[in-house]
Amino acid sequence: MLKADATNLSPMFCPRCSALRDAKPISYDEDCEIHGVEFTFHVDAFECLTCGEELADPADPDLFRPMYDAYRAASGTLRPDEVKAIRQRSGLSQVAFATILGMSPATINRYEMGVPIAIKEDNLLRMAGIPSALRMLLRQRGHLLKPGQRPKA
Ligand SMILES: [Zn+2]
Repeated sequence: MLKADATNLSPMFCPRCSALRDAKPISYDEDCEIHGVEFTFHVDAFECLTCGEELADPADPDLFRPMYDAYRAASGTLRPDEVKAIRQRSGLSQVAFATILGMSPATINRYEMGVPIAIKEDNLLRMAGIPSALRMLLRQRGHLLKPGQRPKA
């Protein structure tokens, strides 16, 4: 584990200083709310010793990933790979899957890339993963699909 002492100060690029600066590891819990769900997540980052700016860990530059992981744990919503697996089992492309569910293809793409899903949309995606529910949706909305978009039966 890293300790915040002078022996492991490591120079990092600080965007506010626009320069390499000495930085120390910092760690704290932060309260957050996404889609109406309140949760706390743990932040491991660095702090510029010159200006105090919080700097992302270069080994994990995605500052939002821990927040999104904590949201999914608190809300019980699907992970990006689970969304993709449900869609792939349906035999539908992102565009066709979105059409059947009444969502935009960009939304389905964002869910598969890791953007947090509200509980209402999560319910819809889970139901689309139930074969009998998917067959019902295809009966009701299948006419909206172009011939090449239909799943191979
Ligand atoms: Zn700085």
